[in-house]
Amino acid sequence: MVTLSKSRVPSQETVIWHHLDIDKAISLLDSDPEWGLNAEEVKQRLAQYGANELQGRKGKPWWLKFLLQFNQPLLYILLGAGATKAILGEWVNAGVIWGVTTTNALLSFIQESKAEGAIAALASSVQTETTVIRSGKKQRIPSGELVPGDIVILNSGDKVPADLRLFKVRSLQINESALTGESIAVEKSTEMLPADIPLGDRSNMAHAGGYVTFGQGMGIVVATGNQTETGQISKLMEEHTGLSTPLTRKFNKFIQKWLLIVLCLTTITFLVGLQHRGIKEAAEAAVALTVSAIPEGLPAVITITLAIGVSRMAKRHAIIRKLPAVETLGSATVICSDKTGTLTENQMTVQRIFAGAKCYSLTGLGYNLTGEIFLNNKPMDMTGEILLNDRAINITNEPTLRECLIAGLLCNDSHIEYKNEQWIVVGDPTEGALIVAAHKAGLEQPDIEKAMPRLDSIPFESDYQYMATLHQIPNGRIIYIKGSVEAILKRCQYGLNATGDREPIETLESDITEQVQRMARQGLRVLALAKLPVPESQSTVDHEDIEQGLIFLGLQGAIDPPRESAIAAVKACRGAGIQVKMITGDHAVTASAIARQMGINKNGKIVAFTGAQLATMSSDQLTQAVEDGSVFARVAPEQKLRLVEALQSRGEIVAMTGDGVNDAPALKQADIGIAMGGVGTEVAKEASDMLLADDNFASIEAAVEEGRSVYKNLLNAICFILPVNGGESMTILLSTLLARDLPILSLQILWINMINTITMTTPLAFEPKASHVMQNPPRNPNEPLLTKSRLLRILAISAFNWGLIFGVFEYIRATTGDLNLARTMTINSLISGRIFYLLSISQLIPHLRAKLKDEGNTEIEIPAIGFGIIGAIALQIVFAHAPLINQVFYTAPLSWSQWLFCLAVGTPMIFWSAFVNRFDPPN
Ligand code: ADP
Ligand code: MG
Repeated sequence: MVTLSKSRVPSQETVIWHHLDIDKAISLLDSDPEWGLNAEEVKQRLAQYGANELQGRKGKPWWLKFLLQFNQPLLYILLGAGATKAILGEWVNAGVIWGVTTTNALLSFIQESKAEGAIAALASSVQTETTVIRSGKKQRIPSGELVPGDIVILNSGDKVPADLRLFKVRSLQINESALTGESIAVEKSTEMLPADIPLGDRSNMAHAGGYVTFGQGMGIVVATGNQTETGQISKLMEEHTGLSTPLTRKFNKFIQKWLLIVLCLTTITFLVGLQHRGIKEAAEAAVALTVSAIPEGLPAVITITLAIGVSRMAKRHAIIRKLPAVETLGSATVICSDKTGTLTENQMTVQRIFAGAKCYSLTGLGYNLTGEIFLNNKPMDMTGEILLNDRAINITNEPTLRECLIAGLLCNDSHIEYKNEQWIVVGDPTEGALIVAAHKAGLEQPDIEKAMPRLDSIPFESDYQYMATLHQIPNGRIIYIKGSVEAILKRCQYGLNATGDREPIETLESDITEQVQRMARQGLRVLALAKLPVPESQSTVDHEDIEQGLIFLGLQGAIDPPRESAIAAVKACRGAGIQVKMITGDHAVTASAIARQMGINKNGKIVAFTGAQLATMSSDQLTQAVEDGSVFARVAPEQKLRLVEALQSRGEIVAMTGDGVNDAPALKQADIGIAMGGVGTEVAKEASDMLLADDNFASIEAAVEEGRSVYKNLLNAICFILPVNGGESMTILLSTLLARDLPILSLQILWINMINTITMTTPLAFEPKASHVMQNPPRNPNEPLLTKSRLLRILAISAFNWGLIFGVFEYIRATTGDLNLARTMTINSLISGRIFYLLSISQLIPHLRAKLKDEGNTEIEIPAIGFGIIGAIALQIVFAHAPLINQVFYTAPLSWSQWLFCLAVGTPMIFWSAFVNRFDPPN
């Protein structure tokens, strides 16, 4: 083993890597292009160079973030209100207002940091992986573990994980716009370059942060982490996890307008107050009006609700990358989903083979190796069932079948492994199915690979729909190709007939297409296999080499059963007024068969379009097609973008899934771009708003459900908080105009708006989702925050609150003459009414009712709302009975009967809110 002396790996800055001969570069880095580094060396270098991570520029310091909390109009006004008090010499009053303001800022500071932390943690929990060669073996490792000298393999869709000196490229194109600003991908090479060439032209290097848009390549890591070119540019890469969403922005705008109105009202109040009273009273009225009209607790509640939504979605395997998606999900009207792996299990099993004009059926499930191949006596039999007189084959008698299986085995980048008592595929499930099929004929991958070693390959890419490999065989060389029938058949010149002899493809073509149709109608994914013998001199395989002249070997049809959970989720989406469309690279007939099994249709009909059809359509035709179609097959990734745009032009809110490098534009364009957390490329993940941790369609539906709940909870919070502000400000305005004592003082208002509101509203964010969330149509995204009926609701409840505040205060003051007592009882009554209102909009009662009905379940958990109510009551007891609070807030203790009085006057809210719920059903 080579041990690494520190001096042998050069200091990274001093070497001009692009100006170095590649062998020199590799030897400088003390590595080996075929073997890579050993575990021991990796460990040493990791200790020496550190992890391959960018030490992001430090964010703003915490104290600055805290101070910035005060930088909002709402808090200016509160600070101003405190200052007014201070000028008038009411220091306690001023102190409390400032204290509450600071507490408010502190609370939202803590909540925001927590929420940001949670989102950032979710985002970084998704690790970037890289393919490397270490100890002679190809393996996937987290990119953070790369060290200088590592040999990295790049494929299209990969993110370049570190700075690499390339030594092997195949049409490799890399987009390095993040670094160079050049938005077009550049073709890479391996040639040595002059020393003084600018960064953007160093075509023999791949720089960290770029991504592979095309082709493949190999390179040696020359710099990691902050040593990379990207790491040197400090302006890049400060991870931004903002907390603003369309809703919060709308809300902030609304608040800003509202504040202007409040300022006007305040001025009027002050001036009117001056007519009747001294400056102190007038100022108190003005301050009281200001604080009453501002929903101080609301911003905090909104942040909490969004953050809780994010974590709920994460529990259901939907990881939010961009916060606005939480909201947008709730208004999604169309979900365009990949078929393979998202709607289906991606557990492929070859069931039918057509080779040498004969039909075969295979037994066995999943990747289980036990199973047999039968020859169907009726080759054109519709069902493919194994009949009584069908017999298991002897592979030596079936030369064409044998070669078809071998082609599937060799033209393959995957392998199977026995893990946890079952066989699993490492790599592509489609390829796994081919390995298992060959195994059922006794052909084992390691033996065949040894006998016919691979010399070169073109990996599978959706754009081409095929893969090819070049092999050494005893008497020459051969290329095996597998791919979609369309891609393969048109390149074939011959085919093998029943006796294993070559025949012109024209004579076989009709049989082949007939078989393809049959397999596809059963929902089988069909792969075509072909070969091309080449001279011994050929050592590489390129796309041009296999344009024509191939020899067709056969078809293999694999089932990929729909996911049960996805079927249920499709149904749930329909109930929720969301259309589901299948977008796939697979054959139209196969896709339609799967769509039928899953209930994906439009008004009971499945209309399928192929990419070729879409390509010839005018934009009007396309808009119609996206509306009518449920299945879009053989769709090229670029066409996904057109589909999204066409749907959006119809006013749809589109969620679109994707995994490949070319899916990125569509993911960005979609209202909600969804990438596969498992099989997705790094590029797709970066372009997405949301990741599916389990690649399952059901998780999209779950996220929509949570998204709707979040929005509903937000609206509930708004509808809950605003009427109290309404009631308070109406009272203060009226009392001032009528020259009466204020029923509530400014400090007391802060108590209600902050302490009571947060206690009672935060639990709304934890509400269980209503049973009907997925039974209503999607929300119209253009719907204003406050619809007419919602506004009426707020006014109606405000009016009730106003009556309560004004009535209780005037009555108690008249009967007892005790101002402090009257105010305390007024506030307690208001909160009593508030509790009943909360119950009318929360899920607590329906929830308890459902629990009680479910008789076997005697254990009743109290939803968060219950704790909110208990907390609010406890705080009111403190408010009325704690001597210190009595002094600061001018409150007074109540007798038992007075407490009962407060409770009693709140109860009519039950009927009032029931009435309001009629014209504005709670969310
Ligand atoms: P999807 O994932 O939407 O089903 P793909 O783009 O992955 O579609 O595949 C499109 C077609 O390419 C498939 O129908 C199949 O014929 C072919 N194909 C899929 N995977 C491979 C592979 N690994 N090698 C060769 N051909 C493949
Ligand atoms: Mg696929």
